[in-house]
Amino acid sequence: MSTLDEILKEIDKAKNIVILTHENPDGDAMGSSLALYQELKTMNKDVELIVPKYSRVFEILPRIEEIKTEGSKSNYDLAIAVDTASIKQLDGWSKYFEDAKTRIVIDHHSSNSMFGDINYVDMSSPACSQVMYVLFKYYNWEITHDIGTCLMAGIVTDTGGFQYTGVSTETFEIASSLLSQGVDLVKLYKKLLSTNTRSSFELRKIALDRMEFLEDGKIAYTYINKKDEKKVKAETGDHEGLVNEGRNIEGVEVSIFLHETDDGYKVSLRANEYVNVSDVCLMFGGGGHLRAAGVTMQGTPKQIREKLVREIKRQLK
Ligand code: 5GP
Ligand code: MN
Repeated sequence: MSTLDEILKEIDKAKNIVILTHENPDGDAMGSSLALYQELKTMNKDVELIVPKYSRVFEILPRIEEIKTEGSKSNYDLAIAVDTASIKQLDGWSKYFEDAKTRIVIDHHSSNSMFGDINYVDMSSPACSQVMYVLFKYYNWEITHDIGTCLMAGIVTDTGGFQYTGVSTETFEIASSLLSQGVDLVKLYKKLLSTNTRSSFELRKIALDRMEFLEDGKIAYTYINKKDEKKVKAETGDHEGLVNEGRNIEGVEVSIFLHETDDGYKVSLRANEYVNVSDVCLMFGGGGHLRAAGVTMQGTPKQIREKLVREIKRQLK
């Protein structure tokens, strides 16, 4: 039996299902989980999608108001984690996953630790929402307008508007099919990629002002701490995308962005052409993709910067 058939068998068997995704969810996490949630609802499953905290920019996504911040049960028949590379990324709600009778992982991260009983991970896919589209087609599930909107949201955000490595002819075929169904790509693009909240703009100014160039301009580095966030009255998700500012500068191979959280500094790394930033993050207990990865680290921004630069330097040409 193929992995996809096994997954369907578990879904058919389960009465109650919980869907989970990674902390600090991006458009792909929100889009792929909401798409799956809607289908399972249609199948009359007792299903809950649990996302404790997300940016209000995602409020344009259909059915987002049905998301729960906590589960109503402790032992679900089935738990499905989407767009999540490791159990650690399920943060405070990993218990819903661990305590479920059966656990499924659907993802696209190359560093995925295969933490489910059944794992469907397509590392060549640029978005988990693209993996989800393939699943829908395989199962012959109907991609309604609302589901299509969620899948498109995930694909357009995780590919940075169809520009990152991993985008393929298949990505455009899927986008094309969703467009012909009437999904409003322009609206999604504008709201999820082009619009800054006022506070995210203020935060960007601070990060840009603080940016440093190291190793002959091959590394760009900046950070945001809690004090900055307080100053600009930052909301959840306002720091999203700031790591790209450094990456988009000529000559830069790796962009480092640190963001202070309750657990230390959340590190975001992006590479342009050749540095494997997933390997760099794996060194410190994190992971991700070849050219986009993350990890949480302890210490001052300067100490963390030194540790990261030491590792990145090994790979610089
Ligand atoms: P971001 O910089 O946008 O937070 O993350 C970039 C990529 O690395 C994402 O695909 C994300 O899932 C992954 N990633 C970020 N932080 C971690 C982490 O702590 N552990 C692992 N395994 N992956 C991470
Ligand atoms: Mn993703």
